[in-house]
Amino acid sequence: MKLTGNLLIGAREVVASAGHMQALNPATNTRMAPDFAFGGPEEVDRAAHLADEAFDSYNSTSLTVRAAFLERIADGLDANAGVLSERAALETGLPAAQLAGEVTKSATQFRQFAEVVRQGRFRQATVDPAQPERAPRPRMDHRMQKIGIGPIAIFGASNFPISYSVAGGDTASALAAGCPVILKAHNAHPGASEIQGRIIQQAVRDAGLHEGVFSMLRGDGNAIGEALVDHPLVKGVTFTGSEAGGMALYRRAQLREDPIPVFTEMTSVNPTFVLPHALAARGAAIGDGFAERMLVNVGQACLKPAILLAVDGAGYDELRQAMSARVTAMHARTMLTPAISLAYRRGLERHYAAGAETIAAGVGPAREWDGQAFLFEVDGSRLLEEPALLDEVFGPAAMLVRVADSDQLLAIARRFRGQLSATMHLESADHALAAHLLPMLERRTGRIVINAFAHPQEVSYASIHGGPFPATSDSRFTSVGMSAIERFLRPVTYQGFPDALLPEALRHGNPLGLWRLTDGQLSMN
Ligand code: NAP
Repeated sequence: MKLTGNLLIGAREVVASAGHMQALNPATNTRMAPDFAFGGPEEVDRAAHLADEAFDSYNSTSLTVRAAFLERIADGLDANAGVLSERAALETGLPAAQLAGEVTKSATQFRQFAEVVRQGRFRQATVDPAQPERAPRPRMDHRMQKIGIGPIAIFGASNFPISYSVAGGDTASALAAGCPVILKAHNAHPGASEIQGRIIQQAVRDAGLHEGVFSMLRGDGNAIGEALVDHPLVKGVTFTGSEAGGMALYRRAQLREDPIPVFTEMTSVNPTFVLPHALAARGAAIGDGFAERMLVNVGQACLKPAILLAVDGAGYDELRQAMSARVTAMHARTMLTPAISLAYRRGLERHYAAGAETIAAGVGPAREWDGQAFLFEVDGSRLLEEPALLDEVFGPAAMLVRVADSDQLLAIARRFRGQLSATMHLESADHALAAHLLPMLERRTGRIVINAFAHPQEVSYASIHGGPFPATSDSRFTSVGMSAIERFLRPVTYQGFPDALLPEALRHGNPLGLWRLTDGQLSMN
């Protein structure tokens, strides 16, 4: 696939109106062709008008047509897996084999959402038939289904250049919900973004859909993102990135004349609690497993376990030793962008200043944007005094907390802000303490894991990749998993409708064969 660097607005390629850039290979610190166009508010306006024009027809596509469209995107990803993963590797410094796995994950997500669309349960079709004889007042026939909320602006993430980027879960779930997508590509991987954008653009064409179902923009600095969030025809936003960026966009959207939902995924340290009997029984294995996980993706992962808390006692030294050994053996590796690499170094400085002690350091950097691994240690009492130590350092660093006793462990648990995940390592003799900890974790996280190391998020029906602020801006929703579609839906009731005017999902005789809630009972009637 030939890269042109143009913006993709509907079916068209659009050349730069606001400058251009070249991709950076962060491993070699060299720029790569071609020039990638920057757009501005004019391009945002064009894409938003096209998306708005596309909405009515796309939102009312049959379940079969919409599902087949999503599968076309999946097929396009599979067909271009080699070129996509190779380009993404050059632009991110991540291994091509790992990125090939990301392509597969993305293609699988589109197929899974195609299945969600075919099942039609997302419509939540609900039927309350007329009760003309009801006293004192007859009931009118009224029926409810969920429909898409309108065009969605999606900010592609920097750290997973495919599965959280242009062809990522946000795009798959928004398109599944019936919402056109305007994608703001991340400048960290413009070539990989263009390949994914072209795959989706081609799928729109092949499926015979309105061209405005998908556009992909790119811009310099905040102006393009701000124009997207401000645009009156944009009806929802998703974002993965920093807390500062996510909250700036969130606040902006709430100041619009018509505030819109903004689903941000921002920051999480994913605390790990090692309970005393588990520590005594297998401290070394837990330390090793934790350290292995924290180094994945050079620590640039939303689910990186960044803080491990263990009560000082039997097994603590073994755990500390195992973590240190892994970190010491780790060679510094290229980080995603110069800005992320510099932010990582600033984060390390903040930890030193807050009183964290370095107990292990990986092999030093060989190249400019390499991130060196670090393991810090701090006492529980210090952590309670210094809340800055609970902040995320995005990169290959983590902190071991030497906790005095179980009471202090519970006191620290209460200090955590909202998290995507939390983990407990425990034996059956730890159940009493775990039962105390559990309600604190439920209040603070979207996912609680026992005796495992936060593996990449499953994309399934029970998956939750969300959590209270600041993990996300809305703890009621997930950005990964099949229920991610719910972010883009809203309910509409149709009262007193003749059958011919009802949406298919709500018609008499249930022609789509959906599970519907009829008079409060789930049935296929
Ligand atoms: P970011 O700086 O928040 O940027 C994400 C996207 O939002 C980019 O496209 C950026 O555009 C745009 N943006 C950010 N602030 C904006 C604003 N005020 N107005 C308009 N657009 C805005 O995130 P990043 O570049 O991916 O990485 C920076 C830091 O974010 C990392 O060092 C890390 O701390 C954090 N991060 C966390 C996670 C996680 O999962 N926990 C994931 C990724 C990043 P520009 O690029 O043009 O500025």
